[in-house]
Amino acid sequence: MNLELFIALTKKTTEQVHHWLQKNGYTSSMYHGGLQEWEREQSQSQYVNDEVQVMVATNAFGMGIDKSNVRFVIHYGIPMNLEAYYQEAGRAGRDGEPSDCYLLASGQDFQLQKFLVEQSIEDPYRKKMEYTKLQQMIQYCYIQTCLQQYILDYFNDEGAREDCGRCSNCLDESVKEEITREAQMILSTVKRMGERFGSSITAKVLKGSKSQKVYELKFHHLTTFGLLSHFTEKDIASMINFLVAEGILLTEDGKFPTLRLSPEAVPVLKGERSVFMKIIKVQKTLDESYNQELFERLRGARKKLADEKGVPPYVVFSDATLKELARYIPTSRDKMLHIKGVGERKLDQFGEVFLDILLDFTKEHPHEPSKATASLPLSDKEARKNERKSHLQSFDAFQSGQTIKEIAKARGLSAVTIENHLFKAYSEGEPLDLSSFYSAQMEQEVLTAYDQVEEKKLKPIKEKVSEEIGYTAIKAILVANGKL
Ligand SMILES: [Zn+2]
Repeated sequence: MNLELFIALTKKTTEQVHHWLQKNGYTSSMYHGGLQEWEREQSQSQYVNDEVQVMVATNAFGMGIDKSNVRFVIHYGIPMNLEAYYQEAGRAGRDGEPSDCYLLASGQDFQLQKFLVEQSIEDPYRKKMEYTKLQQMIQYCYIQTCLQQYILDYFNDEGAREDCGRCSNCLDESVKEEITREAQMILSTVKRMGERFGSSITAKVLKGSKSQKVYELKFHHLTTFGLLSHFTEKDIASMINFLVAEGILLTEDGKFPTLRLSPEAVPVLKGERSVFMKIIKVQKTLDESYNQELFERLRGARKKLADEKGVPPYVVFSDATLKELARYIPTSRDKMLHIKGVGERKLDQFGEVFLDILLDFTKEHPHEPSKATASLPLSDKEARKNERKSHLQSFDAFQSGQTIKEIAKARGLSAVTIENHLFKAYSEGEPLDLSSFYSAQMEQEVLTAYDQVEEKKLKPIKEKVSEEIGYTAIKAILVANGKL
């Protein structure tokens, strides 16, 4: 039987997960410090004897128990440091079979762990060290590069230095969005706040929050106050955490880590370095954030146009489009094109009428902020278009003489992803000289191995050929020979 091991942070979450699993038809056992000794022994023996599918436990659960058939280790909350994480996650797949580790974390866990450090450690030196380790653990949750690399770096492993190609970051091909402007705003806010505050209040200042603390500290007078008001505080905090994970911002260790600029921040502020971040798109409800009065005017104009042409109103523009117009208030044809549902054709047909209304409105309401800047969200269509072309961007960069490593760094993707981009471009007919990846002798060897192996996959082939033939070369050979 395959086992799953849940590692929860507290007694309470252990019980919650255990009960949820039982309710949903799993056989599970739980283990935490609050149980009677006989209960703990019973749980442990159920786990050891494969009587349950899932074990839910706090980290108090016997580290000495060596079960080989654990297929999943799921952390429900972050451990205090990477040493603990590595040890706990390492309980998966001791029999050598593929196994998965998941880390589910939220901002609340970070607070909880800080609290635990604060409570459990007296010695100020050790306390500071534990805060540093916790910060590195939190950073692990925010990095967007290879997770395995991060762990190896943490433990100063001098071994192989290629992206693993298996972790969620390596496999994630979601499009990165440029956040250079936002990053610059964050960095200059941190600077203006004297590099003495943490991420939560920094996010509040950028959001333009009316919180008492912001006003007490007079941060509402800063020129960057409210510059990112079109984001949620949570989104701003995520960007800050991302900048920390990227090493552009540094945190001073302590219970409330304060932010300061690292030397890496200089090129970003000067506009010499761009910053890209994967953004998980959440469907926003636009309803609260558009100008109702303007929406009504646009709707009136739409009705008039529709009546004139004898078509239903939605043929002109959908309600969603009018709401976006009333939200971002674009004041030129170019800016209007950023709005979802506005294409060149519709702009030619109806654009003038709506643009006049928008311009009149901004004249009447000079204080109504126009949000039609570069921060406009990409329309889904536009995003999809970019996604489709992502591999061609890598291809162009490669053709211009950049190495895979350089492209990976510049685009914030893993080297494996860039390789896949190149091979994809090749199979779509782009001119790429694949033989630069291998020699004739290597090709011969790989093709022979390909014919011999039963399972036509990379790993069994890799095991058959000489050690110096890497995965990239094997992949290139197979692609060139139409076998992949
Ligand atoms: Zn990886």
